[in-house]
Amino acid sequence: MTTDSYQTIVIGAGSGGMTVAIGMAGLGRKVALVEGGHIGGDCTNVGCVPSKTLIHLANAGHVRDAAAALAEVRAKRDSLRERETEEVEHMPNLDLIRGWASFSGPNTLSVAGAGGTRRLQGQNIVIATGSRPRELSIPGLPADRSLTNETIFELAATPRHLAVIGAGVIASELAVAFSKLGVQVSMVSTGSRVLSSSLPEASEALAAALEERGIAIYLNTKVERYDESAQTLYLRRSDQPVALDGVDYVLVAVGRTRNLERLQLEQAGVRYDAGGIYTDSYGATGVAGLFAIGDVTRTSVFTHSANAQGRRAVQRIAFPYLPARGPEPLFPSATFADPEVAQVGLLPPEIARRYHPELVRRYRVELKDLDRGYTDGVRHGFIIVDAIRLSGRILGATIVGPRASEMISFFTLAISQGIPLSKIYGLVYPYPTYSNGILKVADAYMRATLPHLRQELAAYLRYRLARPPQPANGAPAKRAAAPAAPVAGNE
Ligand SMILES: Cc1cc2nc3c(=O)[nH]c(=O)nc-3n(C[C@H](O)[C@H](O)[C@H](O)COP(=O)(O)OP(=O)(O)OC[C@H]3O[C@@H](n4cnc5c(N)ncnc54)[C@H](O)[C@@H]3O)c2cc1C
Repeated sequence: MTTDSYQTIVIGAGSGGMTVAIGMAGLGRKVALVEGGHIGGDCTNVGCVPSKTLIHLANAGHVRDAAAALAEVRAKRDSLRERETEEVEHMPNLDLIRGWASFSGPNTLSVAGAGGTRRLQGQNIVIATGSRPRELSIPGLPADRSLTNETIFELAATPRHLAVIGAGVIASELAVAFSKLGVQVSMVSTGSRVLSSSLPEASEALAAALEERGIAIYLNTKVERYDESAQTLYLRRSDQPVALDGVDYVLVAVGRTRNLERLQLEQAGVRYDAGGIYTDSYGATGVAGLFAIGDVTRTSVFTHSANAQGRRAVQRIAFPYLPARGPEPLFPSATFADPEVAQVGLLPPEIARRYHPELVRRYRVELKDLDRGYTDGVRHGFIIVDAIRLSGRILGATIVGPRASEMISFFTLAISQGIPLSKIYGLVYPYPTYSNGILKVADAYMRATLPHLRQELAAYLRYRLARPPQPANGAPAKRAAAPAAPVAGNE
């Protein structure tokens, strides 16, 4: 068998892999892009694009039912997939190789495709194989009633009662979309709150909004079995049995499993475990020439982070002499439920580990108290910012409400560029907008700081270098409270 040599081989044509393959080919390098499934990976085919199209159609409110919406989702998804496939098929310097890749050495791969097996050799190999839905076996549940994000967008029927197992980003987004499309939705999770990786305040706000919408939420609850004849899903909540009647489909969204097994990483000497491949901040695995990016690594679970990692890997491979730009950039998170939930920077457990609680203040602004929140009838929504006293350096921000996913970039910029709340106070924001809430946060900071400068300076000097106390029960200590913000009229 002959071996084809490339400057760069990319395994996986998803969000991360396409970034690297197109980036390197655009720089004139000879690239092979190996893909065993559809071009576009999860995002285009079974993730961001179909889910956001469904959410859009559910919000627009003009589709007949979920089945009609899903047909439109598939049509849009297919057309994007075709466009992306055409792009990589015709890209100069890039060979698209169809098949599943596995390592036979640190810089050699076997690719098993329809036409047989090929051997490839690369100066650099970038692993971008993504992840897949974690499996959950439910006794009694027939395969055709069991859905994941890989199958739900293929449904030809409108579910009557959709049980969503899981309460994370994917579960919340799809629960809301199907509920808006007229489907009865129940959410079941062994966890104690929805969106458990976000602030508890965000979980509460989202749960309240889901329940107002008619979505039944069962937390601290396990799925036991499904009875096909009665179409009943049996649950157990804190030792109490619960029966969900009339469930015709079950969506399992209980987390992700990284696509590692097929790769035979032992042959390459790459360090990994179930949490993903270990890399440095440029995706380097520690094995010369081998990189990993996206969901298959330990730090990325989004398309935007896979893309950012891909761009950094291109920089490292193509321009190794350029100085390294430190750690990975901040990866904001966004959940496109209703309300949206977006977050960037540190969350309270990490803040508590790093800073003395007296050094950090929390500012919270309710979106309903903004004039735009009032005009739009916003019920659930806020901006919460944790910042260092006196300096106003922002540590973390969470936004719940309309346009949260757009507004969060403001805080990504502020945190990554060290722009303090005092500077944010000096900006002028269009009226009436949700981003006026950012100004309100800066107002609250000014109110907590300027009239008490001596006290704030003393606290800053005292606690700036103080070690955070380690509470015996592991719970984070309380932060210094900011004075309550008065509600303004026109901002
Ligand atoms: C329902 C859902 C909604 C989502 N919504 C959003 C969103 O709104 N915003 C956002 O930022 N993120 C979202 N995500 C997450 C996003 O889809 C992923 O983070 C992103 O696709 C990861 O990109 P990747 O390049 O790491 O992997 P992928 O895009 O999954 O691509 C990996 C590719 O590698 C291929 N592959 C795997 N193993 C091999 C092998 N051995 N040989 C050859 N090919 C192989 C796969 O077939 C696949 O095409 C969503 C995910 C889901 C499931």
